[in-house]
Parts: sequence; structure tokens; C-alpha cells
Amino acid sequence: DLPHVDEADPMAVSMGYKHDGATVDKAKFPRHTADMHCGVCALYQGGAEWGGCSLFPGKAVNAKGWCNAWEKKV
Ligand code: SF4
Repeated sequence: DLPHVDEADPMAVSMGYKHDGATVDKAKFPRHTADMHCGVCALYQGGAEWGGCSLFPGKAVNAKGWCNAWEKKV
């Protein structure tokens, strides 16, 4: 299993990444909506709980997380 992304990591902070999308800073990231989460993001490579993300090589993000690079999985 990959180590989890640290929310305090500079990349995570700059992209507004949170393990729980409900805690995203809405003032800084107004595009975030409740239906956007890592589990349905085009960059997510994981399963039901945690998985890789091409934005954070070697680390795992939470399926219920979110960051500003979110893109709809098609
Ligand atoms: Fe989650 Fe997508 Fe951001 Fe990766 S790019 S942290 S999968 S929202």
C-alpha cells in the first residue's frame, strides 16, 4: 500500500487537497462541489478507499478526497 499524501505537503496545500472533500476551503476553491471527489476523478488510479493519483506519484489519496486538479472521469 502506498503512503497517504500529507495534507501539509506543499503540492497538496497549493492544490487544496483534503482527504475529506467536505473540508475543502470553499473560499479558496469555489469550484469544488460535493459530487467531485477523487473516486470519480480522471487522475485517480485506486479503489474504494485509497489509491494512487498521477498528481502525487508514489502516494495515495482518499477516494472521498478532492483537489483543484479534479477532472471528471469519462
Ligand atoms: Fe484527487 Fe483527482 Fe486531485 Fe488526484 S487529481 S488528488 S484524484 S481530485
